[in-house]
Amino acid sequence: MSRLAWSTAGAAIGLSLIVTLAEAGPSKTQLLLSVIGVYIALLVVGSLSPRLDFYLPSARRGPVDQPWIALTFDDGPDPALTPALLKLLRRERIPAAFFCVGAAARRYPALITQAAADGHLIGNHSDRHGYGWTVAAPSQVLAEFAAANQTLAAILGAAPRFVRTPSGVSRPDLAEAFAQLQLTNVAWDVCGLELLYRNPARIAARIARLARNGSIILLHESYYGTRIVKPEQALTTAQLTIALLRERGFRFVRLDHLLKQPGFAASPIHASWLPEEGGAMAKARIDESTNHSASRS
Ligand SMILES: [Zn+2]
Repeated sequence: MSRLAWSTAGAAIGLSLIVTLAEAGPSKTQLLLSVIGVYIALLVVGSLSPRLDFYLPSARRGPVDQPWIALTFDDGPDPALTPALLKLLRRERIPAAFFCVGAAARRYPALITQAAADGHLIGNHSDRHGYGWTVAAPSQVLAEFAAANQTLAAILGAAPRFVRTPSGVSRPDLAEAFAQLQLTNVAWDVCGLELLYRNPARIAARIARLARNGSIILLHESYYGTRIVKPEQALTTAQLTIALLRERGFRFVRLDHLLKQPGFAASPIHASWLPEEGGAMAKARIDESTNHSASRS
């Protein structure tokens, strides 16, 4: 029985008990409201905590047998940051994943093209980064993510294969919408919480402390439509995070390679991403690890 089914059934049983047993008058209304309140709270907690996989299964971590991690950046592209961030990643030879907002991609398609040309993975992060779709009709939920897919496909020549919802929120029918769009939902293992910690050094130190083999790290290019996190702050955070993670011995692997999705073979590894041990050797290591984890599962 799914969580939606049991939470709905629980609420229905609670409601009928109250209607049957409670005294008439305000206490009945109060009880009724509190049950509805608990039910809504359950839905909100379930939606907001990707760790619970409440409605929607998500990838949060890759294989744990290698010190590999994937960097992901949400809410771009942003002309105030993306070019500098791409430059940093190029210099550091790090393949990242960018979960982009459809509306921003339409405004700055060249940034998407550049990121893809640099070998980064582009994912769907909804079309407008709003939350209205969480309570809208099912057709609007599909439309929200289909529109971003369409925009990114027009720019890249192929639709994205990965999606991350704004703040990781979900709703009961989202899994079906993503299946229809052939999107794999990706959450995270460690996030920057840039709004809470603010200071780049503090954010980077916290991420480096929490990162483990296979971690999917979530950082923000911006908080979409705001300047709460300044571009220079975001850039310094990325820079320090990379340095500290390297100090701890982690290696950066592109998200899809980390997760070994079916498209793994179809998206060739950028030769420049594997310079530390020589392209062929590192590729062999990746293949070996793919086989290794396949035999484990
Ligand atoms: Zn976001």
